[in-house]
Amino acid sequence: MSTPVFRFAPSPNGYLHIGHALSALLNARAAVALEGRFLVRVEDIDQARCTPELEAGMFEDLAWLGLPLDEPVLRQSDHFPDYRAALERLQDMGLIYPAYLSRAEIRRFVHGSEEKGQSWPRDPDGAPLYPGDRAVLSEGELGSRMDSDASFTLRLDMQKALTRIGPGLTWQEAGSEGKALFGPAEAVAVDAASWGDVVLARKDTPTSYHLAVVIDDARQGITDVLRGQDLYHATSVHRVLQVLLDLPEPVYRHHRLVLGPDGCKLSKSNDDTSLKSLREGGLGLRQLRRRIGL
Ligand code: GLU
Repeated sequence: MSTPVFRFAPSPNGYLHIGHALSALLNARAAVALEGRFLVRVEDIDQARCTPELEAGMFEDLAWLGLPLDEPVLRQSDHFPDYRAALERLQDMGLIYPAYLSRAEIRRFVHGSEEKGQSWPRDPDGAPLYPGDRAVLSEGELGSRMDSDASFTLRLDMQKALTRIGPGLTWQEAGSEGKALFGPAEAVAVDAASWGDVVLARKDTPTSYHLAVVIDDARQGITDVLRGQDLYHATSVHRVLQVLLDLPEPVYRHHRLVLGPDGCKLSKSNDDTSLKSLREGGLGLRQLRRRIGL
C-alpha cells in the first residue's frame, strides 16, 4: 500500500483559530497513526488579504502546536502559471465563460425576483446561483463591458461539464468524526449541479479556491483529504474538476467543526478564539486540546 499523505491547507488571511487547531491536530494524528506524511499548504491566492505577517503568525501557531510537519511546504502564490494552464485546458474544452455581473448586481437581481414571489436557487453555502449576464444586462451594456476593461470572473459551465462527464460520478467518504473518522470508504453521489456555474478565476487572479485545491492536492500527492464539515458539499465541485483535468481521486473525510458560544462557525476576525491571543494569554496545549474535545 502506498504511504498515506495528509495535508493542512489554511489561508493566511487572518489568524488561525481553535477550529484550525482541531483540523491540523487531527491530520497530524492520522498521519502518525498510519505512518504517513503530513504536509502544509499555504492557500494564499487572495494576495490582497493574505500577508507575510499573517503567514509568519500561522507558522508560529503550527510550531506551538508541535506538529510533525513534512517538507516541502507549498505556497499557492508560487504557482499561478500552473492554475492558468489548467484553466486554459478547461477553456479549450469549451467549459469556461466570462461573467460580468458584480456580486451587488447578482444580489439586486435575486432580491428583485424574490420580491415578485419567485424563489431563486442557492448553492449549498447559501449564495444565489449565477443568473447569467443576459438576465440583467442589455446586449449593449454587455458588449461595452466586454470591450472595456470591466472586471469579470471566469465560470465553469456546470451543465456542460456534467454532460461531458456523464452520470454516476461519486466521491469516496471514509467517515466523519463522531462516526469513525477512519471508517470504511463509502461512495457519495456528486451533486455539483446544486453549485451552478462556480467561479474558477477572476480577471486578475487565474484561479479560485476550487481550482487551486484540486491541482495542489494532486501536485502534493495527497491521498487523504481530512478537513472541516463546512467543505463537505464543495467536494462535489472538486470531483468534477478532478475528472475534467485527469487528476487522481483522494479519499475524503470531513470532521466536526468547533463552534462559537453562539453556535456559529468561528471567524478569523474574532480575537477570543485566535490561537495567537489564547497562547499569549497563557493557554497551554493540554487546555487547548480539552477545549476542542481532543
Ligand atoms: N484553505 C481552506 C480554508 O482555510 C481549506 C481548504 C481545504 O482544506 O480544502 O478553509
